[in-house]
Amino acid sequence: MSDAESIIKITYTYIAMAEKEMEETPEVKGLNFVEQIVWDDLQAGKNGGRLNTRFPPEPNGYLHIGHAKAICMDFGVAEKFGGTCNLRFDDTNPVKEDVEYVDSIREDIHWLGFDWGDREYYASDYFPQLYDLAVRLIKEGKAYVDDQTSEQIAEQKGSPTVPGVESPYRSRSVEENLDLFERMNAGEFDEGARVLRAKIDMASPNMHFRDPIMYRIIKHPHHRTGTKWNVYPMYDFAHGQSDYFEGVTHSICTLEFVVHRPLYEHFVKELADETYCPRQIEFNRLNLTYTVMSKRKLLQLVKEGLVAGWDDPRMPTISGMRRRGFTPQSIRNFIDKIGYTKYEALNSVSLLEHAVREDLNAVSTRVMAVMNPVKVVITNYPEDKVEMLEMENNPENPDAGTHEMPFSREIYIERDDFMENPPKKFFRLAPDGEVRLKGGYIIKCTGVKKDADGNIEEIYCTYDPDTRSGMPGSMRKVKGTLHWVSAAHAIDATARLYDRLFNVENPAAETDCDFRELLNPDSLKIQEGIKIEPYLAENSTPGAHFQFQRIGYFTPDKDSKDGNLVFNRTIALKDSWEKAQKK
Ligand code: ATP
Ligand code: MG
Repeated sequence: MSDAESIIKITYTYIAMAEKEMEETPEVKGLNFVEQIVWDDLQAGKNGGRLNTRFPPEPNGYLHIGHAKAICMDFGVAEKFGGTCNLRFDDTNPVKEDVEYVDSIREDIHWLGFDWGDREYYASDYFPQLYDLAVRLIKEGKAYVDDQTSEQIAEQKGSPTVPGVESPYRSRSVEENLDLFERMNAGEFDEGARVLRAKIDMASPNMHFRDPIMYRIIKHPHHRTGTKWNVYPMYDFAHGQSDYFEGVTHSICTLEFVVHRPLYEHFVKELADETYCPRQIEFNRLNLTYTVMSKRKLLQLVKEGLVAGWDDPRMPTISGMRRRGFTPQSIRNFIDKIGYTKYEALNSVSLLEHAVREDLNAVSTRVMAVMNPVKVVITNYPEDKVEMLEMENNPENPDAGTHEMPFSREIYIERDDFMENPPKKFFRLAPDGEVRLKGGYIIKCTGVKKDADGNIEEIYCTYDPDTRSGMPGSMRKVKGTLHWVSAAHAIDATARLYDRLFNVENPAAETDCDFRELLNPDSLKIQEGIKIEPYLAENSTPGAHFQFQRIGYFTPDKDSKDGNLVFNRTIALKDSWEKAQKK
C-alpha cells in the first residue's frame, strides 16, 4: 500500500468510527447527534450529571460565520440541557495574538445572543499547571528535550506505513531533561534550538503519537503574561488539559480534530479519573460558497487593504455581517437549517441570504428611497401644496405602526421606471400610461422634456385627486405601483451596494492560482445622490433595518455623517444570482 492509500485508509477508518457514532445515536426526537451524545451522558450520570462546554477561539483574528456555528453548538447545547458554557481564549501563540481580537470576539458572541457570565478563561491561565504537568511527565520518563531542528524532527516522522526514527536525544536522563527544560523556560536558548517532546511511540499508526512536541521556545511577549514564559505549549498539550482544569465535560469541535482525539485522551488520562473526564466530540465545519473561511486568508485581505477591515460588509466575519445589516436571528436560523453532521459540505450562501431576507422581511421598516432619480412634475397639483400621506411601517407586523411622508407637485421616481417606447408588459410609467404612486395617487404621463442629447430631464404627469387612500377612487386598479419621494423634501444620501466577494463558488478549491485573483472586482459599487424620504434620514440610527421599497434591505453605515448619510445594502429583495444561474 502506498503512503497516499494508507492515509486514505486511516482517514476512512476515522470517518467510519465517527459515522458509527452518529448512527448509534438518533434516539430522542429532534436532537442532533451531538445533543444526543450529551443527553445520553447526562442520563448515565457521567461527571456527576454535570454539563459544561466551552468555546475556545484563538485570539488571532475576528470570528467568522463558521465560528458562529461552533458558538451556537457550544452555548446552545449548554442552554438546552441546563449546563454552562465557558469562553476560553486559546492563547498559546503570542506571536499571532492580540487584545484587539479578544475584544472583538467578546462583542461578537454577545451580539449573537450568548453569554458566558463570569466564566471567561484563558489557556494562559493554565501555563503554570501545564508546566507542572510537563515536569511530572519528564520525571516519569514520559517526555524529553530534543535538540534537533524542526526539519530533522519532521524527517524522522516517517509516514503512516513507515515507522518513524527515534531521536538520538530520546534516552536522555531525567536530570538532564529537567535541567534543559528549566533553562529553555529561563530564556537560555534561542527559538527553535530545543523542544520538549512526549515519549510515546515512533511506530504508532497514528502520526500524532510519534513523540509529539509538547513545548516550543517563543521569545515574544504574550498579551497577558508578558515575558514571564519563554516556552509555550502546543495545541495538543494544552487543549485537553485546559478542558480538564476548567471542568469541561464535553469538548465539542470540528472534524479536523478527529485524528487528534486519541492524543487528547492520552494526555487527559494523565489527570482524569472515573469521577470526571472531559470528552471530545466533532461535527462538520461550516463552509460557505463565494468566500473563504481561513483566518490566514482573511487576515491577508485585511492587511493588504483588499477589503476595508475585518468588519468590511463583504467579509464572512460576524462583525462584517453585522455591519452589512444581517441580524443575529437570521444567522442562527441559517445555522439551524444546515444542521450538524459528520459529513463535510459546502453550504450555499443563497441559503444564508434566504434566512436574512426572511428575518428582515419580518423586522425591517418600509421606507422609500430612489436610487437613480428622474424628476416628475405633476402639472395639475398646486405649486405650494404639501400633503402628508400615511405609510405603513411594516405590513408583516400590525404593531409596527405608520409614519408620514410628504407629497408635493414635484417628485422623484427611478429613471428605470419610465420608458418612452416601452415593450408590451411594461407595467411602469410610459407616455399616456397610468401608474399608482405607492401610498398615494394615480398619475398619468402627459409628456417629457429632453436635453440637447435626447436624455430625459423631466417627466410631466397629471394626478387623479380622487385616487388617494380613503377616497372613492382609491380602489381603482392600475397595473403598476412605483416608489417615489417628494423632490422638495428628499434628502441626498449614498448607498453602498455589495455583492459576493469572490467570483467562484469555492475559492479554496482553486489551487492553480492565488486566491486573491479570484476576488470579484464588482463586489462594491458606490451610488451617490440617492434620494431618501425625510423619515428615513431622521431615523437612521446605527443597527436599524430598513426595506427600501422595491429595492432591497439597507442599514445605516458607521461612516454616516450629518449631511452625508451612508447606507449599506444588506441584500437585494430577490436573489439575482440564482435567477442568472437558472437561465
Ligand atoms: P486557526 O487556524 O487559527 O486555528 P480556526 O478557524 O480553527 O483557525 P479557532 O479560533 O481555533 O479558529 O476556532 C475556535 C473554534 O471554532 C474551534 O472549536 C473550531 O473548531 C471552531 N470553528 C472554526 N472554524 C469553523 C467552521 N468553519 N465551522 C464550524 N466551526 C468552526
Ligand atoms: Mg483552531
